[in-house]
Amino acid sequence: VTAGGPVPALLTALADIVGPANVVTDPDVVAAYAADWTGRFRGTAAAVVRPADTAEVAAVVSLCRTRRAALVPQGGNTGLVGGGVPLHGEVVLSLRRLAGIGPVDEAAGQLTAGAGATIAAVRAAAEAAGWEYGVDLGSRDSATVGGTIGTNAGGLHMLRHGDTRAQVVGVEAVLGTGAVVSHLGGLLKDNTGYALAPLFCGSEGTLAVVTAARLRLVPRPTHRVVALLAFDEVPAAIGAAHALRRALGSLEAAELMLAAGVGLVCETTGAPPPFPGPHAAYLLVEAAAGHDPTEELGDALARLAGVAGEAVAVEPARRRELWNYRESHPPSVNGLGAPHKLDVTLPADAMAAFVAEVPGVVAEVAPEARTWLWGHVADGNIHVNVTGVEPDDERIDDAVFHLVARRGGSISAEHGIGAAKRRWLHLNRSAAELDAFRAIKRALDPDGILNPHVLLPTG
Ligand SMILES: Cc1cc2nc3c(=O)[nH]c(=O)nc-3n(C[C@H](O)[C@H](O)[C@H](O)COP(=O)(O)OP(=O)(O)OC[C@H]3O[C@@H](n4cnc5c(N)ncnc54)[C@H](O)[C@@H]3O)c2cc1C
Repeated sequence: VTAGGPVPALLTALADIVGPANVVTDPDVVAAYAADWTGRFRGTAAAVVRPADTAEVAAVVSLCRTRRAALVPQGGNTGLVGGGVPLHGEVVLSLRRLAGIGPVDEAAGQLTAGAGATIAAVRAAAEAAGWEYGVDLGSRDSATVGGTIGTNAGGLHMLRHGDTRAQVVGVEAVLGTGAVVSHLGGLLKDNTGYALAPLFCGSEGTLAVVTAARLRLVPRPTHRVVALLAFDEVPAAIGAAHALRRALGSLEAAELMLAAGVGLVCETTGAPPPFPGPHAAYLLVEAAAGHDPTEELGDALARLAGVAGEAVAVEPARRRELWNYRESHPPSVNGLGAPHKLDVTLPADAMAAFVAEVPGVVAEVAPEARTWLWGHVADGNIHVNVTGVEPDDERIDDAVFHLVARRGGSISAEHGIGAAKRRWLHLNRSAAELDAFRAIKRALDPDGILNPHVLLPTG
């Protein structure tokens, strides 16, 4: 199904539901919703529909079901696998207007947020009440609650608090049938049958449109300390991340960077090199607690092998400077032209060999390409970014995903499958699993109108 057919009639009916101002057809405005953050995935849409609440979302889905018009749910459009953009002429269903955030339940440590609330706004609401939201990511100012549920986002604090699925206590959503399911009571222990909230986490808008979520909060640390470590051998940096995870209960982030990426960040942002000489690898670590963790971090760092340079920051401004080396990686690499973003997981004992091997595998396929590596290494997650290849040239993706599968890893750590990886889902999922996926899809979205061109392989 596509938005083909009698489009003007569909648009008029949509306008009856959300109001004419919220059916956007101006091509210049629509274009911003039809291309992804990297510029690798660009589509077209007859319209962007912007409902205000759950009732309007349900009416839009029901109408589109009747008209067999496909919808792509979209939040902040920061997804990196082409899963939130209309690559087949679908109507974009933007959830950004559902941005309300309810009061923090002080006793339970929970809040209810609309699907369109940004992660930055949720974090700010939690912090104002003395709590913290356990998910944080570089796209926090745009990425939404609904989008992070759609992709089951991991992010910078995953090693401490888990992924988005671990934070979602309940959801409200509109199924592909148009039915509204709402389970926002916030009970932590609730074994009353199938759990829909975790099922929707990572479902990439293919089963239901999330309209709100009940989110668990974590105690807010009062003290933070950040350290940037330099290593002359990549395996030493990876080993240090694992050692710190074991040694430091307050460890909140451990991010691997390599010499080329840090060099590029310095070039593009004007930041000074972090240490006098270049080093093969860098590890950015953050510890956070209800007491000052500087001393325990210092003790743990002193026990690490192979540290060739160390910068420690307690002051917020200096902490931000150190984080900038990591957070400027995605925009700096994007500046070189639309990258292929291959976000993968490796078993802990296979990571160092993979980091050594992958640039050669890429160069064999495309000698002109450049490989950039960084990631949430304590989770076994590395972002393989390849620049200098055409957006639709999938030879690189094919070579890297097969290498990942041979090493026992996953072709998607945290970005999802989207349009970019569906061809390779069979590398991680058996035929029986894919049959079960399709059966679930048929049950919740019988006419296949919700994001029909992502996640599940064709056929
Ligand atoms: C600079 C940068 C840093 C990033 N860092 C991280 C990181 O550390 N960890 C990480 O996991 N990701 C990261 N990402 C990727 C991205 O931010 C996440 O995938 C995020 O979850 C997407 O949220 P969004 O609101 O932008 O969703 P969108 O991009 O709009 O959509 C993503 C997917 O979710 C679906 N969807 C959106 N809203 C809904 C809804 N209400 N109901 C159902 N489905 C929906 C869409 O159809 C699509 O399939 C980063 C991206 C950028 C640009």
